[in-house]
Amino acid sequence: MVSERSSDVDDTKHSSTAENPDASQPHKGIGVSPGIAIGPAYLYARVSFDVEERSVDPEEIQLETARFEKAVQKAERDLHKIIDVTREKLGEDSATIFEAQLLMLRDETVYPEVVRYIENHGINAGYAVQSVMGKHRQLMEASDNEYLRERSNDLLDIQDRIIRHLRRGHILSAVEKETIIIAENLTAADVILFSRRGILGCATDYGGPTSHVSIMARALGLPAVVSMHGITNIIRTGDIVVLDGIKGELVVNPDEDTLAAYRQKQERYARLVQEDKQLVGLPAETLDGHPVQLQANLELQEELELMKENGAKGVGLFRTEMLLLMQGRAIVTEEEQTLLYQKVVESVKPYETTFRILDLGGDKLLPMGHREHNPFLGWRGIRIMLEKKELLVPQLRAILRASSTGPTRILLPMITTIREVRRFKEILEETKAGLRSEGVSFDEDIPVGAMVEVPSVALQADAFAREVDFFSIGTNDLTQYTLAVDRGNDLVADIYDELHPAVLQLIRKTTDAAKMAGIPVSLCGELATNLRAVPVLLGLGVTSLSASPVYLPAIKRVIRAMKMTEGEALADKALALVDAQDFRDSMDKWLEEHACGVSFFLEGAAG
Ligand code: PEP
Ligand code: MG
Repeated sequence: MVSERSSDVDDTKHSSTAENPDASQPHKGIGVSPGIAIGPAYLYARVSFDVEERSVDPEEIQLETARFEKAVQKAERDLHKIIDVTREKLGEDSATIFEAQLLMLRDETVYPEVVRYIENHGINAGYAVQSVMGKHRQLMEASDNEYLRERSNDLLDIQDRIIRHLRRGHILSAVEKETIIIAENLTAADVILFSRRGILGCATDYGGPTSHVSIMARALGLPAVVSMHGITNIIRTGDIVVLDGIKGELVVNPDEDTLAAYRQKQERYARLVQEDKQLVGLPAETLDGHPVQLQANLELQEELELMKENGAKGVGLFRTEMLLLMQGRAIVTEEEQTLLYQKVVESVKPYETTFRILDLGGDKLLPMGHREHNPFLGWRGIRIMLEKKELLVPQLRAILRASSTGPTRILLPMITTIREVRRFKEILEETKAGLRSEGVSFDEDIPVGAMVEVPSVALQADAFAREVDFFSIGTNDLTQYTLAVDRGNDLVADIYDELHPAVLQLIRKTTDAAKMAGIPVSLCGELATNLRAVPVLLGLGVTSLSASPVYLPAIKRVIRAMKMTEGEALADKALALVDAQDFRDSMDKWLEEHACGVSFFLEGAAG
């Protein structure tokens, strides 16, 4: 018989204060969906099954494969239901995550492999599912590809679903109502189903800003903090927790004063969100009449709705590598890419969509499992794409084909030298010629821009401005390469300062050159979401900001509370400084005085 070992929900209630002497001390993670949740924790542990191997008689094998098929059909029914709920709650685009899971159920390698496993080993279906899917998951988990690692969670979801049905069990993503979910990891299906139970927010040990839990939480407006490294070992069901999705923090069993401060912050944030709704239709314009373009950074098509709700005027950065790696493959066909890009452009028009060509390498996937000692200084972005035409050309053809649907731009990542831009443009022209000869229509004048994320480009911005149609300043990398500090290394995180005067000087060099050449310049790094920086960035000459959609209303609020002259004065002051800390203080003072109502977005402003 099939047996199961279940690591079910732990609902032992005890206070963690003893283990955590200073209960008001926050635990840090990455805030991926803003908002404050206060309430009892619910430690959610995925029910996992350990199916025992059982041999079946040769005459039973067909019965076993039929049981497997039946369980798959039931899992399909579950997923269709989840897709319906998702469509109803979040719209069509969000349902694609589950549509992908639906496809995984009948994946052309996994499904037949399970059947073969049953047949060749004369073994029970549950064990075959566990072995085959387990093997595929292990491969995904061991991958260098963050996306693939995260998708292994989806496969586990499917595996559990099928095994449950083989056992004729029910799938329940059941949790207590009005709790804050604490889990090692959550799937998109978990988040959707939990949201129906009215959960207040969630915190996970693993995950990053682009994992499904984060995207779903943002789309549902649920505060969420991920990458909390072992928070599930600290918190118990019933502990009172404060989850701060703005700062990416969680406080366990806070004292009265801390709780009161967070309640105030929660009320202020709720008021702000209400007010933001009115703000969406208003222009992003300074008090003295300078318009600013606010665009969205997107990674997945699920975020398209969110971008509209938050009033973005186009997509300033579409990180295509995420979209492609979502499929669990580094290479996606031209046809698949074209369909995806067309869908995005169609949805974003009349505004423009800026597709950045694959930015592989660095902390993202490298093709062919290539490994490097110093990946951020290695084979990355444009350096890979110029060598791997089998990646570049299909992507370019797909972007060009999508460009006949609506305004489309191409953005080049990790540009370091002029030669790279020129070589790219040659390949672009060859690709255009190919399409022309096939009679395929595309935008002949599709703009090509360069990411300004390596100091050499900022320093030579005049020359680059003559070669490209626009600049997009990537402060995440520009900071790392200017200050020689790994953007993902906790040990040197205090040196990683996007407001360092050296970084600001490079931004100024870039905006000056863009102005001289008459080309647009946008900033799409995380610095755009740092509200204290917004006036100074505009003062430095940045005319367009691109950020994750949920942050756009707050950015607009700051823009509408400032005069460009103030921004310019702050920028001059910042450039003259040698230490960024002084600048930070005057920026915070400015925000406070101008009562933008957003000052609690800043670090260290818990109250
Ligand atoms: C950047 O470097 O600032 C940027 C926007 O690109 P990414 O974060 O994808 O490297
Ligand atoms: Mg970058």
